[in-house]
Amino acid sequence: VENFESESVISINNSLYAKTPEALEELLGKLRSIGYAIKDLRKAEHREVSIAEMEKTGWSLWFASLKNIQMGKCNSCHSLIKTNGIRSHGHKCEVCGAVTYYDVLDGSVVKFSFNTERYRDLFFQPKICFIAKFWDAENAALYLYPDPVLNDSLPDNDQRTKKYLQENKKFWRYVEKDGQRLILIKYANTGFVKDSDINMIDINGRQYNHSIVRVWQGKEYPEYGDFPVPETLNIYESWHWAPLQPTPTLHERILTAVNMVSDIGYYYQDGRPVFCKKTGKKWPSSYATSHHLMSLPLINPGLTSVAAALAVSMILLNFVTRTRM
Ligand SMILES: [Zn+2]
Repeated sequence: VENFESESVISINNSLYAKTPEALEELLGKLRSIGYAIKDLRKAEHREVSIAEMEKTGWSLWFASLKNIQMGKCNSCHSLIKTNGIRSHGHKCEVCGAVTYYDVLDGSVVKFSFNTERYRDLFFQPKICFIAKFWDAENAALYLYPDPVLNDSLPDNDQRTKKYLQENKKFWRYVEKDGQRLILIKYANTGFVKDSDINMIDINGRQYNHSIVRVWQGKEYPEYGDFPVPETLNIYESWHWAPLQPTPTLHERILTAVNMVSDIGYYYQDGRPVFCKKTGKKWPSSYATSHHLMSLPLINPGLTSVAAALAVSMILLNFVTRTRM
């Protein structure tokens, strides 16, 4: 993974610390040239602190992110397609026309409550389960096989289900479709109560005919996992505050930079290590291992004074010993 580190740029997790204005210019230029969109956080709309304060206390001043790298991939024709709507029921691939996703298919098990005033505020609403036949999403018409699925582990389930169905008779009716007797219910997946007579709780049997991939510089990568560069980067201008001087809270500043908590009570107290020594990837997320921790880039002659580095190393050594990393 490219981490953009150089003599004048320090990389910690997904953060980059530019040591000089020239290094920053060069870094931003490099990031732009390979497709990052750069946001100037000095111009952020909802900033609560002054720019002078941001600089002095070491806020991130730039944000770099890769835009539009997510694409869909049709399972039928294997083309890269847009992700818009790709996970809505019946959406069609723009290349071959195959449906990319079905929410409900013949045989899907649907569990829902009727949208009755009487039960709306109850936390444990009565629910009912059916096997679906077909969903016409555009017309908010959900067709179900007429017999509800019973949960035999509940006593009187048969009676109670029948009663529940009868109580809510105004929300459903029997229809004939292709010579088959089905139940028709008004259901749209719009998120608005008025568009549905039921509140869908669970659908079992969704069908995906696509995957999501990430595409960068002509290469395809899985939705999650390995990717050659960070998707987002926080960029800091360290010349406003470096080198850090010894203060009672310096260790907190340094631990925060690797997403760690300085309160020892936060970590396991029974001797279990906080971080996996091999991958360094246990909760909390950070690549810090004891080795990394002792050589944190922030304790770098460029960013921290020698006296501060010594002081903080002592604190961290104590920290490492006590958390048994
Ligand atoms: Zn296709």
